[in-house]
Amino acid sequence: MGIELLGFQTTIASPVTLKGIGVHSGAEVSITFHPAEADAGIVFQRIQANGRVSEYKAVSSQVGNTDLCTVLGMSPATSIATIEHVMAAIYALGLDNLTIEVHGAEMPIMDGSSEPFIDAIELVGVRALAVKRRYIRIVKPVRIESGASWSEFTPYDGMRFEVEIEFDCPLIGRQSWKGDMTPSVFKRELSRARTFGFMRDVERLWAAGFALGSSLENSVVISDDNAVINVEGLRYTDEFVRHKTLDAVGDLSLAGAPFIGCYRSYRGGHKMNANALKALLSDPTAYEVVETATPRQRTRARDMVAVAVPGFAPWSA
Ligand SMILES: [Zn+2]
Repeated sequence: MGIELLGFQTTIASPVTLKGIGVHSGAEVSITFHPAEADAGIVFQRIQANGRVSEYKAVSSQVGNTDLCTVLGMSPATSIATIEHVMAAIYALGLDNLTIEVHGAEMPIMDGSSEPFIDAIELVGVRALAVKRRYIRIVKPVRIESGASWSEFTPYDGMRFEVEIEFDCPLIGRQSWKGDMTPSVFKRELSRARTFGFMRDVERLWAAGFALGSSLENSVVISDDNAVINVEGLRYTDEFVRHKTLDAVGDLSLAGAPFIGCYRSYRGGHKMNANALKALLSDPTAYEVVETATPRQRTRARDMVAVAVPGFAPWSA
């Protein structure tokens, strides 16, 4: 994990900056990842033009809107939008502590995938800290349903995702991705999958003043006659479900600690991922906080020991 069950917390070795445009505003955005101390968590700091700073820990309790993307904070004047692709990269690479300085109201969309964020992190490298990492181990199933959609956490000896989508669109149809998550699996199988949309929806969003930065450079766009408009085509034949899985990795990162279990979803999305996580975290009988029993670098999930840390709740602000 995150997800290779390394025993110690991490941060990045030195700062790194990315620039791009925001997919919703179309405005230029710059972000800088800074190293952070153990137990700091992932913290976003939005720097306003007047120098004021709004700060959010990347945890479930700070999530505002999830209609079009995942937003931290309730007020548009201070909130930070479209965090899911950045967070997916951070979670999948096993970064526990980071300060993300943001000049703008949302993350840069880059190419619509997580790859540019992975590249930036790998450019500077990941550094281990001298404090043990804690995990959220699922001990009983938690399931939510909404119409035909559902998602659930179940106990599992590792971190596993099983994501299935079904669109009333012959180009996408029914697709599923299943796998145990490690940094290398994420990089190889998911990180390059881009966000996607339908031309008719994009036109409607543009008319309403949304998705102003959306283009063929950062989205796979599907025409009204079910063809991919992008001349370069798809990066994976099932790029759609791979992107949905990437989104789920980013959304579940807001647990504030890596989870040990299996996450399954059928026809889910940001809202369902967020609600499933809330359902899990609001049921203290469904999970326990664990860490490695010995200072070994690697261990198996089943060998981890439960810890009672007074006041410890990585997912709370
Ligand atoms: Zn996405």
